[in-house]
Amino acid sequence: MASDDHADEILWTADAALARLKEGNLRFVRGQARFPTIQKEVLAELAKGQQPYVTILGCSDSRVPPELVFDAGFGELFVIRVAGNVLGPSILGTLQYAGLHLHTPLFVVLGHQDCGAVKAAIASRFDGSAQASRIEILLEQIVPALDALDPQSSPDELLAAAVEANVRWTMRELLATPEAQARLAEGHMKLVGAIYELDSGKVRFLD
Ligand SMILES: [Zn+2]
Repeated sequence: MASDDHADEILWTADAALARLKEGNLRFVRGQARFPTIQKEVLAELAKGQQPYVTILGCSDSRVPPELVFDAGFGELFVIRVAGNVLGPSILGTLQYAGLHLHTPLFVVLGHQDCGAVKAAIASRFDGSAQASRIEILLEQIVPALDALDPQSSPDELLAAAVEANVRWTMRELLATPEAQARLAEGHMKLVGAIYELDSGKVRFLD
């Protein structure tokens, strides 16, 4: 993750970064993506350092690649992918790096429709099913997010609600860290949640 620091340069506001993500997703959905191939000049410039405008915590699911979903090029997105877009010590360290050294103004927790990790957490929480030991450790990060859900709702409704609850839970946990509190108080940082729809390619940003 070698990179220059750019502590005194604020290139992007959080709102401009969010608008750029929304426009990129619109181009993606319309089949008008801008980046069919890599440009050598861009690589040469980026070799000097990175200044991504957003940090995205998304799921490892192969169907949700953030650069494609947001029609973003190299050097634009600082991406962390882990099954179920959960937090953990290494993830928090990576997020702290993004905040302290890259100064991305915008942080996005990106969940997605039909998330297998969330599905497994539902099975663990409501059906008592068990997984291999390290998967269980992962699911423990998701299960608390499901407390307020109604297990009587239909499986599809339950999963959709759980995906959103899991994004909101990750955001709450992240906001509870002293670093996030400090950066939010400075007014330079924004944290938003979003859900990617597998069937349409659309990203729905949460209120
Ligand atoms: Zn997933």
